[in-house]
Amino acid sequence: SKSKWSILGAWVVCYQQTYHFPFVLPNCVEFLFLLFLLRGQNRLPLWIREIWAYMRLLAKSLYFNSLTDSDVVFDSVFEPVFLTVDYVTRWFGLVFVYLVVILTSSIVGIAYVVLLPLILNTYSPPWIAWHVCYGHWNLIMIAFHYYKAANTSPGYPPTEKHDGPVVSVCKKCIIPKPARTHHCGICNRCILKMDHHCPWLNNCVGHFNHRYFFSFCLFMTLGCVYCSISGRNLFLDAYNALETHYQTPAPPYTFKDKMIHKSIIYMWVLTSTVGVALGALTFWHAVLISRGETSIERHINSKETKRMAKWGKVYRNPFNYSRLNNWKIFLGVEKRSHWVTRVLLPSAHPPHGDGLTWAVFPVKKDLIPV
Ligand SMILES: [Zn+2]
Ligand SMILES: [Zn+2]
Repeated sequence: SKSKWSILGAWVVCYQQTYHFPFVLPNCVEFLFLLFLLRGQNRLPLWIREIWAYMRLLAKSLYFNSLTDSDVVFDSVFEPVFLTVDYVTRWFGLVFVYLVVILTSSIVGIAYVVLLPLILNTYSPPWIAWHVCYGHWNLIMIAFHYYKAANTSPGYPPTEKHDGPVVSVCKKCIIPKPARTHHCGICNRCILKMDHHCPWLNNCVGHFNHRYFFSFCLFMTLGCVYCSISGRNLFLDAYNALETHYQTPAPPYTFKDKMIHKSIIYMWVLTSTVGVALGALTFWHAVLISRGETSIERHINSKETKRMAKWGKVYRNPFNYSRLNNWKIFLGVEKRSHWVTRVLLPSAHPPHGDGLTWAVFPVKKDLIPV
């Protein structure tokens, strides 16, 4: 039955083009099921013959695909790992969000219950004013940007026909992809100017919430560094006191004192750790924004740079409008006062552009004269 083999062959090739890799167990089961459906005249095909036919088709399909290279092989070998990570991330979804909310709330709770009375009792009025003002401003910025980053849709390309410029077709959604759009395996759809999928937000970071994501990281880092620095002496006192808790005779600390010591230590360790880790991440994203790249484009551009270098050419990122312009576009700063109203205060202004069309300007041109 020649037509049977051609159907199966076409199926294997399609599958390989779509998912890169037909060697995953569920696909084998699916394939055998297809073979079973298409059995036709072959009344009693031996299971060995079926598996042999499958292996032969796999081998043939590998030659069939002219696009195969080391990257496809790498993706193929790690496909099961990627699928597992996607599955776990999707399953955990809200767990990470609850974790962020609970940990942040615990720090804020300690700040109000333990630190605020200490500040009010021991500090001079100017220092009290500084801590109250800065602390609340930082807290509002964190809460606003986290809420907006998690609840703003990153932006999706239109699924119906449109006239906008497209650069390729998504193999999974089977829809045209505008420039900078990428497919997210966890969201299972294409994302405009996709940066990455963030499990801490349970949302993709794309065109419409990239600024909220970055601002959240920045203000969370600032908040952690602020807690870590201003609580340093309290931490050292609490740490020394904690060491005497277990001495004999026991020092005259009440239960309340011990709880205060422990919560100060918890707060300092958590904020210092998060401050360093998130600080590094924020710094890296700041470098990317300065270059006019997303996290995904970082990989594409470095590969492209190497490829062009082989031909003796210099690759130039078409979305890099020079450092200051990249920041103005990213933050939506269109006039001088926006540095305060749109950057240092909570602002829900939409990003520059619609995420579908990307005007490519000469690198030197000042897009927004400020
Ligand atoms: Zn897609
Ligand atoms: Zn996603």
